[in-house]
Amino acid sequence: MAFNRADNGFLVLDNVRIPRKRMLMKYAKVSADGTYTPPIHSKLNYGLMVLVRARMTNMQAQNLSSATTIALRYSSVKRQGRIEKNQREVQELDYQTQQYRLFPQIARAYTFLFTGDEIINLYHQTMDGVDKGDIDLLPDLHALTSGLKSVVTFTNGAGIEQCRMACDGHGYSDASGLPKIYGYAIAGCTYEGENVMLLQQAARYLMKSVVRADRGVSLSYSVKFIGKKGEKRSRLGMQAESDEQEIETLLSSLEHIARRLAVEASQEWEKRMKMGESRERAWIELTVEMNRAARVYTRLFVAQSFHRRVMAAPSSLRPVLTHLLSLYLHYECVDMAHHLLHDCHLTGDQINYLKKRLYEDLRKVSYQHDHS
Ligand SMILES: Cc1cc2nc3c(=O)[nH]c(=O)nc-3n(C[C@H](O)[C@H](O)[C@H](O)COP(=O)(O)OP(=O)(O)OC[C@H]3O[C@@H](n4cnc5c(N)ncnc54)[C@H](O)[C@@H]3O)c2cc1C
Repeated sequence: MAFNRADNGFLVLDNVRIPRKRMLMKYAKVSADGTYTPPIHSKLNYGLMVLVRARMTNMQAQNLSSATTIALRYSSVKRQGRIEKNQREVQELDYQTQQYRLFPQIARAYTFLFTGDEIINLYHQTMDGVDKGDIDLLPDLHALTSGLKSVVTFTNGAGIEQCRMACDGHGYSDASGLPKIYGYAIAGCTYEGENVMLLQQAARYLMKSVVRADRGVSLSYSVKFIGKKGEKRSRLGMQAESDEQEIETLLSSLEHIARRLAVEASQEWEKRMKMGESRERAWIELTVEMNRAARVYTRLFVAQSFHRRVMAAPSSLRPVLTHLLSLYLHYECVDMAHHLLHDCHLTGDQINYLKKRLYEDLRKVSYQHDHS
């Protein structure tokens, strides 16, 4: 589809002796008498892949940023149709549907950039620890880079495709630049580990974490939400809240979904094994649900990462980033409305409230666009 500069091939080695000292033995080692010593943690075997996956979040965000910039500029210049008689044709970006297509992509591009920065920092922190024999952060890093690689590449692909379609026939033209950006970005769903496979890596960590939470063991930072109590029913929209307070309420709703999906998948897995299915057979029968739980765990992390960045932002930037975060969270929650309704965490009226707030966010971002 794209990636034409990468001429992939393969190499077959047969009966080739490699001197022991040329085996790049950083973590796994073979001694002179042939004894194999494994790394201190099995995931260290994938060290380089973890680094590439960690970098991918940022690289992907740059692709989405380019596509979003092209589509926004096009929609600002292009006029199409009249709302009032005797007035100029409307800027395409004034249509709510165009805003609904494009503004969430701005929010996603920023949040993926922020999450990318956070995950790269986590990578370096983890590897500094590994060099001193401390592997505490490694399971989090492995699960998060697996989940992010999958969620970010998939969401980006869909986002870039929305940008392309928002530019009508011109978006399909190679001259728009969008087909190339899409072709590059979408390859990320496959390379460095196919997305469906990688979600399972994150799901396995979630399953271990549910068991640890049951035993009262303290959980590390990306899975802490599993051990939290949380409110069964959200009070969203039932009391006056500032934008910042509402953001906290929305984040706890995302935690609620992530916790429920992880716990239900774990219970179902346990039940099947009790009924005699092998561990792996039971897993295969539940992979769609496992991956669903892993996806929401990752989306929660992305949202939390955006929130952490907003809280740390200088006061001059905080208001505009708060608008963007609010838009991001309202959009995410509307997209996951079925999960929120599933166990009556939200009511139908609260979903309507979420949508109303989302449309207000679109208007606010549009106003900022006009005045920037
Ligand atoms: C643009 C591009 C560049 C690449 N560059 C490189 C490179 O530089 N170096 C390199 O080594 N490789 C490279 N690759 C290869 C890439 O890493 C692999 O294609 C990728 O890891 C997926 O492996 P696979 O193709 O063997 O698919 P498979 O793993 O065989 O998957 C095929 C299908 O089966 C499903 N599947 C497989 N196993 C399971 C399971 N256990 N449970 C559920 N579903 C399963 C998958 O979800 C998928 O739908 C590149 C690929 C692309 C597209």
